[in-house]
Amino acid sequence: MEFRDLKKQYEVLSKKINQNIEVVMREGNFIDGRQVDELERRLAEYVGVKHCITCANGTDALQLALMVWNIGPGDAVFVPDFTFFSSAEVISLVGATPIFVDVCKDTFNIDPVALENAVEQVQQDGKLRPAVAVAVDLFGLPADYKRLKQITEKYGMYILEDGAQGFGGRIGERRACSFGDISTTSFFPAKPLGCYGDGGAVFTDNDEWAMLLRSYKVHGKGKDKYDNVRIGLNSRLDTIQASILLVKLEAFYKTELEDVNCIAGFYSEELKKYVKIPQVKEPFYSSWAQYSILLNDSAEREQLQVALKEQQIPSMIYYKTPLHLQRAFEEKGICYGCSASEDISKRVLSLPMSPYLSKGDAEAVVKAVKDFFE
Ligand SMILES: *Cc1c(COP(=O)(O)O)cnc(C)c1O
Repeated sequence: MEFRDLKKQYEVLSKKINQNIEVVMREGNFIDGRQVDELERRLAEYVGVKHCITCANGTDALQLALMVWNIGPGDAVFVPDFTFFSSAEVISLVGATPIFVDVCKDTFNIDPVALENAVEQVQQDGKLRPAVAVAVDLFGLPADYKRLKQITEKYGMYILEDGAQGFGGRIGERRACSFGDISTTSFFPAKPLGCYGDGGAVFTDNDEWAMLLRSYKVHGKGKDKYDNVRIGLNSRLDTIQASILLVKLEAFYKTELEDVNCIAGFYSEELKKYVKIPQVKEPFYSSWAQYSILLNDSAEREQLQVALKEQQIPSMIYYKTPLHLQRAFEEKGICYGCSASEDISKRVLSLPMSPYLSKGDAEAVVKAVKDFFE
């Protein structure tokens, strides 16, 4: 059994994907081909924002957003303590200070109460200017943007949505990657919408920021890439990846998103008696980048992983180390207390998940967990 079944997906979509790749090979526009423009139009339309700017990966997407806002030394950027390293790495990379904020045990997402407390603390300390809150749509579930926005508006901060795992999620009718002042996603192969290499995108309704993003991603270009008006990056999505994503995006909204929600529903129904299942409250909708359960403690988690492995069932721990305990952030970040994040990191476990997980495999996972507890 695969943890995330990309081979089955390719089997289903291979004819169209191969055709699209061949067209790119024949046309020869490997960088900035028309397929990139078409993908950007379709992504913007799907998400419901004015501008989509593709780039080389989800980490660059976050960095580009911070560059557009001129974030740097002296700025405090708030970020959930429980997320992938990238969400905070880019903060240090631009010279700002990451402030690690605790998360909610129910949703794994940034805790608005902890965010407001951290902002107040930074103001009291008086050394840094609260500038941006990064909200991550962890495991596919959008963060609580209604409450987060009340806080960022109150303190005059921007909100940056890290939708690397959130693409396809919703709150009511509104789609993930439309919640931030700027929002980002990643097309890393294992993300909800993945390509066959690295890729990413930035979303915004703001015309000026969109113009700046298009400049920063191509060496700070002015009129063209040989007219350089600011220091930027080389961060493009290549045409082959765009042509693959055009096929995958259609499959994503036509069938995959529903299928993955079906499997999540089945898991939750069957497992709720045994473990703490992920909570998705109305009107939230998840794209299930991961299906993550909570065990009672780390010993139980370890034993369950062994039991699953005996049945050839892969499982993964996202994430073992809270960000404020990562060595790279020693003396680089500030944490006013992240007890929920520390606790979750010891007990969380992600089960095999993908729209192409067969009913038989999903049943095998459920049976292995049940057998373990009975
Ligand atoms: C994967 C991921 C990223 C980074 O995306 P890349 O395309 O790998 O650079 C950023 N944030 C989160 C939450 C992620 O899961």
